[in-house]
Amino acid sequence: MSFNVDEDYKLLIGGEWVPTSARYDIIDPNTTEVVGHAPEASVQQANDAASAAKGALKSWRATPMAERCALLGKAADLLARRLPALAPLVQAETGSTINVAETMQLPACLERFNYYRNPQDVDEPLKPYALGATALGPAGLQNAMVYRQPVGVVACITPYNFPITNIAGKIAPALAMGNTVIIKPAPQDPLAVIRFVEILDEVGFPPGVINLIVGSGPDAGSALVDSKLVNMISFTGSSLIGTRIIEQGGKTMKRNLMELGGKGALIMTADCNVANAVTAIASVWAFHSGQICTAPTRVIVHRSIYQQTVDRLVAAAKALKVGDARERDTLVGPLVTKTQRDRVVALIERGVAEGATVAVGGDVPDRVGYFVNPTLLVDVKPDDFVVQEEFFGPVVVIVPFDDEDEAVDIANNSDYGLFSYVWCGDLGRGLSIARQLESGNVAVNGVQSHPQAPFGGFKMSGVGRDRGVFGLHAYSEVQAVNWPAV
Ligand code: NAP
Repeated sequence: MSFNVDEDYKLLIGGEWVPTSARYDIIDPNTTEVVGHAPEASVQQANDAASAAKGALKSWRATPMAERCALLGKAADLLARRLPALAPLVQAETGSTINVAETMQLPACLERFNYYRNPQDVDEPLKPYALGATALGPAGLQNAMVYRQPVGVVACITPYNFPITNIAGKIAPALAMGNTVIIKPAPQDPLAVIRFVEILDEVGFPPGVINLIVGSGPDAGSALVDSKLVNMISFTGSSLIGTRIIEQGGKTMKRNLMELGGKGALIMTADCNVANAVTAIASVWAFHSGQICTAPTRVIVHRSIYQQTVDRLVAAAKALKVGDARERDTLVGPLVTKTQRDRVVALIERGVAEGATVAVGGDVPDRVGYFVNPTLLVDVKPDDFVVQEEFFGPVVVIVPFDDEDEAVDIANNSDYGLFSYVWCGDLGRGLSIARQLESGNVAVNGVQSHPQAPFGGFKMSGVGRDRGVFGLHAYSEVQAVNWPAV
């Protein structure tokens, strides 16, 4: 272990590292041992962070974009050197396997900073317009420029699954656009985020441009949603909390970027490559134990290949090693907390009580820690709650279909619409099915996505898009400036 349980963690408010009067324990889900003690921000400290961000806004938004992006580039270079040392802490508090920590938790964060190190021209002139004479003035050519202005103070509230990456994906475009930010990570695993912000603080962002508060419950985050000084909530988390935040923030007309829950459909057509599709589906189990909003947890398979898909999935699940995420051959680590483990187990039990059959897994291994064995539920119908509910754990459900129209209907029969998948022997037909899905993102014959593709959800999976240039759009207000041609 390359961190000390008694290390000191503080909040960053207005350029000062501030202690708190209370702290709470962060637990390693592999061992249930204490990883460290997180600072517990008060509501007053949340409000102080909002005031600090507001105070820094005028000068930061007036700083040329090239200078702001240069600081992001400097941050990317420093993070590239320093982030790898955070891997043991990230693993201990999130329960990520070595593979997930090394390939996703840290490098994806760097990718976000690297992209926004290059300034972009986001303003656009409109073609001059020949106006007729009106009561307001004579006829003539009218010019207009469409400028993108920063929204202002952005509170970035994130979930527990990819703590640093989620925050990097929010603050890099927000800062590039000239916003100031308050970071509020998830309560379960904020310690590496604090270390990450310490690194950013060395880069030389002006005081108040980046602020950080941490808390074990919703009080501090909720104070940011209520604050008149906060202009925008950039939230990633469950659809339930997202709707609460929209409702609560409506009183102060908050701008919202909402990246919410998912129950990813994966359609397998009769002619698809079953072996490849099964490998993709097994990623639900082997990639952060299914704690991924984009995971293909809802398999919709042509009846002619249903049984062989079930058989292959059962064999794949049995081959995965469940265990301490720090052992290199472990593929399925723990869920983040006892609460999350117990929730997933309760959902499986309810599903079985309502008629689902466990084809594999469905139980917890006999060991310390918050583990659930890779689980496949069969004998389910499209309306069953196990097909509708997001588990956020290593659980896959599988439903057969007879024709491809029906497959599309089953896939769209969901409150969610974040990330869906199509496995098809014919790429053209696969792309055509993709276009019929009510889903912000679709992958055909693969599970990867373009890092600059717009990311976000249809329906209860969210509002707005980020990544690439769409991230700059998400963190800006559009302003039109008009003047007559002379
Ligand atoms: P969560 O329970 O919704 O919590 C997310 C964040 O919201 C935490 O920081 C939480 O901290 C905060 N929060 C809760 N109540 C709040 C309130 N009233 N005001 C302000 N903040 C509040 O989600 P989670 O369990 O951490 O993560 C799992 C969920 O995230 C899943 O639904 C998953 O699909 C979704 N997710 C979506 C994406 C995406 O990109 N679409 C990515 C990853 C995860 P406190 O409880 O301390 O307030």
